[in-house]
Amino acid sequence: MGREVTAEDAGGSGQPPTLLELDGVNKRYGSFEALKDVTATVRGRVIGLLGPNGAGKSTLLKSMLGLLHFEGTARVLGFDPRVEPFRVRDAVGYMPESDSYLPSMTAVELCTYAAQLSGLPKSAAIQRAHAALYFANLEDKRYLPVEGYSTGLKQRVKLAQALVHDPDLLFLDEPTNGLDPVAREEMLRLIESLPARRGCSVILSTHLLPDVERLCDHVVVMQQGRIVFSGTIAELRGTESLRYEVRVKAGGERLAARLEERGCTVERIPDGLVVTLPEGAGTELLLKEAIAAEVQVRHLAPRRIALEDAFLEALKS
Ligand code: ADP
Repeated sequence: MGREVTAEDAGGSGQPPTLLELDGVNKRYGSFEALKDVTATVRGRVIGLLGPNGAGKSTLLKSMLGLLHFEGTARVLGFDPRVEPFRVRDAVGYMPESDSYLPSMTAVELCTYAAQLSGLPKSAAIQRAHAALYFANLEDKRYLPVEGYSTGLKQRVKLAQALVHDPDLLFLDEPTNGLDPVAREEMLRLIESLPARRGCSVILSTHLLPDVERLCDHVVVMQQGRIVFSGTIAELRGTESLRYEVRVKAGGERLAARLEERGCTVERIPDGLVVTLPEGAGTELLLKEAIAAEVQVRHLAPRRIALEDAFLEALKS
């Protein structure tokens, strides 16, 4: 049976686990530098590895699995992929972007084969294969050849294959790419349930911000072979930002004018304002000016920066 653990076990009280420790990682394809001096410590339960196509996300994952030779120092769950790649691959499951099934094999045969490749004896491999396919909601289809599957089902078989040896960490490379909305929703739900149901952490490589927003607690942003941001989604958004959304009953323009006089930047939105306070000012400035302008404030809340804006901002750095 696959390992089913409680949400509490997987919930990670205290510090989130350290998944990757990278120091000066470089990877070249011939003269092209795909990873340039990548240095970061990546912690979390579900991490979004974000970046435009060609940023180096797949190269980083393959390097960390010990599938590509690279320079620099790295640890994956404490193991060195350059000197102990088999230990890394024991601890890490990998769902590659491209299809990786053998024609004419059924899902059970494929997953059993993957489990045997990870070193399990046949009977245990069969058991694990069924458990992983059950997790991926494929028990009805498990005896059919994978080549006849829809894209959504093929992606779920890849997920089951990646899980079959009960890894502590999963690398998922673009798992929702090319899926229709129903298949995408199913894949997102499965990924969402991985920490609680399978007890594993996830690094999810994607260029799709909504997937990251929904699933991830931490984000690593890559661009042109470098990590340009690593932290929580809140840190990426910059929740400490001084932007507030103010909804007023009437007199919005009057309040806006007063706030601008006090050094605020004010953006007009339907039935309200988005106010950026000057450095060092707090919400009391807003309220004081509203009272002075005799404007009734109905709603005042920090304005969340859209993840897309925060992501674009990180790419500028
Ligand atoms: P991402 O996963 O972020 O889309 P990749 O890691 O696939 O990015 O690719 C990073 C860069 O390395 C791209 O410019 C890509 O063209 C190049 N690249 C990837 N694989 C190879 C390869 N085998 N040979 C030469 N260049 C490669």
